[in-house]
Amino acid sequence: MWCDSGSSDLESRLCDYIDYFEGTCEFCIDNLGISGYYNEIKKLLEDNPERLSDRELMLANYVYGVILYKMGKLDEAYSSWLMADKYALREDDEKFRAKISSYVSIYYYVKNDLVSSNRLFKDVVKRFEEQKNYTELALHYINILWYKRYEKDKSNVNDYLDKAFYYVQLSDDRRNARVYLHLGYIYKTIFNDFIRGLKHLTTARNLCYSNGNVEMESMTLHVLADGYMHLFHFRDAIDIYKQLLEDSRYRNISASLKCMILSNVSSCYLYVGDFAGATSSIGKMRDNIDETLTKVREQFEAVYDWLNAKLLICKNERLGQAEVLLNTAKDKYTANKEGFCVDQFDYLLCDTYAEYFLALEENENALMCAKDLVTLAQGYDKPTLKRAYSRLAECYEACGMYEEALKSRKLETGMLREIEESNLADKYDELFKEFLKYTQQQRLESLAKEAKNLSKTAFIDELTGAYNKLYYQNMTDMWNDGIRVDASAIIADIDFFKQYNDLYGHQEGDKALEQVAGCIRSTVSGLNADVIRYGGEEFLIVLKEKDALRAPEVARGIVNSVYALNIKHEGSDIAPCVTISAGYYCDENSILKSLTGLVDLADKALYRAKNSGRNKAEG
Ligand code: GH3
Ligand code: MG
Ligand code: MG
Repeated sequence: MWCDSGSSDLESRLCDYIDYFEGTCEFCIDNLGISGYYNEIKKLLEDNPERLSDRELMLANYVYGVILYKMGKLDEAYSSWLMADKYALREDDEKFRAKISSYVSIYYYVKNDLVSSNRLFKDVVKRFEEQKNYTELALHYINILWYKRYEKDKSNVNDYLDKAFYYVQLSDDRRNARVYLHLGYIYKTIFNDFIRGLKHLTTARNLCYSNGNVEMESMTLHVLADGYMHLFHFRDAIDIYKQLLEDSRYRNISASLKCMILSNVSSCYLYVGDFAGATSSIGKMRDNIDETLTKVREQFEAVYDWLNAKLLICKNERLGQAEVLLNTAKDKYTANKEGFCVDQFDYLLCDTYAEYFLALEENENALMCAKDLVTLAQGYDKPTLKRAYSRLAECYEACGMYEEALKSRKLETGMLREIEESNLADKYDELFKEFLKYTQQQRLESLAKEAKNLSKTAFIDELTGAYNKLYYQNMTDMWNDGIRVDASAIIADIDFFKQYNDLYGHQEGDKALEQVAGCIRSTVSGLNADVIRYGGEEFLIVLKEKDALRAPEVARGIVNSVYALNIKHEGSDIAPCVTISAGYYCDENSILKSLTGLVDLADKALYRAKNSGRNKAEG
């Protein structure tokens, strides 16, 4: 996206590199991925840079900065970015300048210059917002979250997570998978919110899948399995890892990611007591370590030593050797703390020291470790603190301090309850949103129904239950607007109804009217027909579509049905009961252009029926 069609080959290659680093999770970048780029760009910048254009120099210095930064050479990275900014300024590329500043603000943060970092960070947000550069904004937030995630005051972290999520939804970019992956990771690991984490990880996985990004897809599965591990579901984690390790596509993923996966699966095996499984995966990890980046290589070596120490302690073998390994792991960790590849590694080390002393039955030393463990765990999350209390209780028990042990067990139980509650709260949060969505939906549906009913009653004649004149008017308008169907019309009029009223009174008249209307409606009930009270004692029946042609038989049918009602009418000149006359018009060729035309012709037919004796239908 930083290159247009007029870019040189070198420019587009540099853009590809930028895309790679920004779209790939930090742990997936390994020696093969980085050393090639590093040497190439180093050479490019060192060997007569005069022949490069300002734009090429801008891109090269920027990506060189990113590479140095990923290699842990922060100060060199900073110099490169300043250089990149010089060329970006010459190129007047404000978008790229904002991008550079984004990294520099993180550099200040890592260097603990929080004032400069905050100022620049906010400034970058403003610039990206003005540029509507949403993927960059989302990346800007998650890049710093990578360092901020363990901050004690979580309000900032929360705010940044919301922002990253908000902006990533506004854009469509290959690099979005990395944003979702980090969101999922932080919700899961830092906030112990497995449900929300899972949602983002699923999105990340789907994006990776559709982009064919096997590396990131594997990373997502790894984070997922890591989540299970963190909840002590070691078997579930092993299942996911097995699936991943057996997938043929996995062969191509980076050595770093393989090491991460193998180190996790090894500790899962250790937790479930499968020493053979652990030994085999620790061995496989060894095969991959040399391929990883120098920066993470020492980290993985620390993890490797720790795993071997833990294996010996679990098997209660060669404890002296275990101690040596633990000490080297600790030294390597201390030298490479920044962005360490395994979360909470200081905690894991400390816990293993406690285990080691317990194995040696040096219980006082174990207790000291366990106390340190609680302090460390307080900086992490609840499940970790729960485990720390459990270890503390165990050490108190070993020392024969049962009262203290009981206290620790109580604290452990308290943590367990809090974890359950916070998990429940998260679940409720999720369910509540679903619930709201559902009730809103229902409310909308009932409103729509209400509106429909309202409009229906507005079109219904109260006395007869037939449609009213307003409905007829709407139908006429629709026809005039060109929305029409094949239709025929029948007009039915009660015979000698004035006399009926005169004889039995208006109220009885109403009753008879109601009965006649009901009779007409039930006669046409199975048909595609509308019954409309057209006048005082006149009804219009509109037969539609394929039923249009049935007008003659329907007209005769209603005449007969009303007669069959046998409502006594002593004032009728033609029958002892109430009768109707009907006129119909069937427009077989649909040549009529208006409904009123159709009705007029039916009305003429009614006139003929009245004049030729009534109680009959005429067409
Ligand atoms: P014809 O057979 O020629 O149609 O004779 P008719 O008396 O039925 O026709 P006319 O149009 O002369 O009278 C219609 C009568 O229908 C007049 C009025 O009293 C009666 N009518 C109209 N609307 C209502 C109503 O809502 N309720 C009652 N009870 N009577 C009504
Ligand atoms: Mg009439
Ligand atoms: Mg009449």
